[in-house]
Amino acid sequence: MKKHNFSAGPCILPQSVLKKASEAVINFNGLDLSLIEISHRSKDFVEVMDSARALALEHLGLHNKGYQALFLQGGASMEFLMVAYNLLEKKAAYLNTGTWADKAIKEAKLFGEIVEVASSKDQNFNYIPKNYSIPADADYFHCTSNNTIFGTQLKRFPETDATLVCDMSSDIFSRVLDFSKFDLIYAGAQKNMGPAGTTLVVIKESILGRVSRAIPSMLDYKVHIAKESMFNTPAVFPVYVSMLTLQWLKDMGGIPAIEKINNQKADLLYSEIDRNPLFKGFVTENQDRSNMNATFNLTNEAVKDSFDAMWKEAGINGLNGHRSVGGYRASMYNALPLESVQVLVDVMKELERKS
Ligand code: PMP
Repeated sequence: MKKHNFSAGPCILPQSVLKKASEAVINFNGLDLSLIEISHRSKDFVEVMDSARALALEHLGLHNKGYQALFLQGGASMEFLMVAYNLLEKKAAYLNTGTWADKAIKEAKLFGEIVEVASSKDQNFNYIPKNYSIPADADYFHCTSNNTIFGTQLKRFPETDATLVCDMSSDIFSRVLDFSKFDLIYAGAQKNMGPAGTTLVVIKESILGRVSRAIPSMLDYKVHIAKESMFNTPAVFPVYVSMLTLQWLKDMGGIPAIEKINNQKADLLYSEIDRNPLFKGFVTENQDRSNMNATFNLTNEAVKDSFDAMWKEAGINGLNGHRSVGGYRASMYNALPLESVQVLVDVMKELERKS
């Protein structure tokens, strides 16, 4: 029996995807060769890359709209600096909603003036700041749609004329948004898409070419676009598994279908956190709660050992909170079934009965 995997990332992937991926490692496309021992220039792999890129744009509704999808390396952390390298001429605006946003700001400061339009650092990032303004002369505005560690999520994005850049690492493909409002979206694969090792970058091509600095080839989005995401050897296995997951999502009915299930999962767990006197959510405003990562604490630390023993006994994995928040974090990415959340909620109810 597979565990109920609430890990924050790397995290659960669809079982059917894991099965196909493992088969391809032994014998890919009936070639009598492994996926990871053939040339990335071979027809079979080029098809994988092309279809991964096309599926990503299709899911986001950005096909034939002037956008390009790339599968790069270096993680979302590399995008913290690539974004600034490629887009920041003088000044950029950042919303600071957590550790990852903070790290993005740190990298961007190497390239120009950074205006932190708002921050929730004062309260250990347990809310999303609102009512801030974005300077009219900013080269771009950067935000993080979902704060993996703290369990907050932007439910609304600012109406702005500025170039809009978003780190969607932990909630891409999980909810319906008007993705055409964004000019650049990036996301490490290892949550809703695939294994660690590749990063999806979706760029509106018209925003490139505005900075005066020379950009090293490996960090230049234009180079990667021109080479169709094959400037250097791509992460063949992570790209293949991402392609399978994007295909799985399409077969499920795409983002609208998965969003419904994600809402059910989040409603089920947050209702129990709110109802059960033994638990308290970490995020102060309900509207800011993440549908992907639910962070919560016990109200009575004396039951911690019992709770920990009970969820482990129920076959649950990966429930401990991040070290900077403590408590618990239930990550409910696309591939986590509703039944797994029900198992967790049953354990929470059982703890209350026993206490
Ligand atoms: N942004 C967010 C929102 C994240 O959750 C993470 C880590 N999972 C990162 C950026 C950094 O990603 P990576 O480890 O791929 O560099």
